Amino acid sequence: MHNPKIETLPVEELRKLQNQRLRQTVQRCYEQVPFYKSLFDEKGVSPGDIKTVEDLHLLPFTKKDDLRKNYPYGMFAVPMEEVRRIHASSGTTGKPTVVGYTQNDLDVFDEVVARSLACAGARPGMKLHNAYGYGLFTGGLGMHGGATRLGMAVIPVSGGMTERQITILQDFQPEVICCTPSYAQTLAETLVKKGIDPADLAVKYAVLGAEPWTEAIRKQVEDGLQVTASNIYGLSEIIGPGVSQEDFEERGTGSYIWEDHFYPEVVDKDTGQPLPHGQEGVLVFTSLTKEAFPVLRYWTNDICSIYYDRDAKRTHIKMSSIKGRSDDMLIIRGVNLFHTQVEEAIHALEYLSPHYRLIVDKKGSKDHVTVEVEDVKGDTGSYDQFTSSLQHQIKNTIGLSMDVIVKTPGSIPRSEGGKLKRIVDNRG
Ligand code: ADP
Repeated sequence: MHNPKIETLPVEELRKLQNQRLRQTVQRCYEQVPFYKSLFDEKGVSPGDIKTVEDLHLLPFTKKDDLRKNYPYGMFAVPMEEVRRIHASSGTTGKPTVVGYTQNDLDVFDEVVARSLACAGARPGMKLHNAYGYGLFTGGLGMHGGATRLGMAVIPVSGGMTERQITILQDFQPEVICCTPSYAQTLAETLVKKGIDPADLAVKYAVLGAEPWTEAIRKQVEDGLQVTASNIYGLSEIIGPGVSQEDFEERGTGSYIWEDHFYPEVVDKDTGQPLPHGQEGVLVFTSLTKEAFPVLRYWTNDICSIYYDRDAKRTHIKMSSIKGRSDDMLIIRGVNLFHTQVEEAIHALEYLSPHYRLIVDKKGSKDHVTVEVEDVKGDTGSYDQFTSSLQHQIKNTIGLSMDVIVKTPGSIPRSEGGKLKRIVDNRG
């Protein structure tokens, strides 16, 4: 554990710390960010009304659109002379949002990423192959700073140029790799194509995030790279990667949210009402220590649940893996659908590989989904049988009828370094 005192702090003490930090953050937002001042004034709420995290429900949500309206620096709470770095979100769902960091914010960023890496199995003295993109995206520099803080040697490879990545894995012998799960799939597959035995590599741990993924991809990556793969979650608006992390020995039980810095809520996506622990809804975060870009009740759009795991190594709350973004959710004949549900259905059939995409069209007035998926071996003679098996699996688990097209290995687009688009929406 990188910071055992904080990572195992009793929940009551954690709550005290959160409340004290929340009061400071609220004050800062009210005094320094005109957007928050008018929000409080309109609602008739004064900063003094928010004494504990229980009072947060008095405040409305901050949404991506609010940040876009204040593009680029309107949400900053410090003068530019105090800002030491500027990043932007990837812009997956539209115009990117711009975020800033003071020196203290960068220290917090390093701290939470260092904790996350240690939680993923990394140790001081190991080498990190950092295949997240360097640049405005928070992934590359975020992981870099945290690895340095932990005492690792960083290999700043950045995303793309797969051949070169493989050579570096072979020659530099890093013990840890971080990248998107879809790019880890690409790397695993390239090893096979090049006839490289993963046992000849030193890599033992993979820290994967920036897009939704399921056990199907975990299995493919763990088998293909011979690593232990864990989930890292984050978003630029909250800090970047390292908002939460799955422990490498507790895989499948959720990712710890570093609660001393980020206070989570899960709310109903339609009513905005807070939901009890364990129930699925939209994840909302309030930053507790951010100086340059504090956020109150930021609506992430990501769908998951949060819960305490009393058997776990740490006391911080966990979040389930993200099902998808609520604005990526498809509504097909009245049924809500995330691509990760199809990924899970594919996982049940061992002759199919988790290389897939969903093509969405309109048939008359109705939305229609076609699943394109690959089989593992190119066993074209069995494609009719594979098609009907996946159709049945989808119907039984999701309750929808979909067209399925099984394709030969390698025919569906791969990640070339960053986030992979798994939904092709032709509805215009
Ligand atoms: P953008 O929102 O433009 O993609 P970011 O690069 O900041 O900008 O990405 C943050 C988003 O990426 C999150 O809100 C979430 O949707 C997704 N994401 C990040 N990490 C994970 C993860 N481990 N699992 C699922 N989704 C993730």
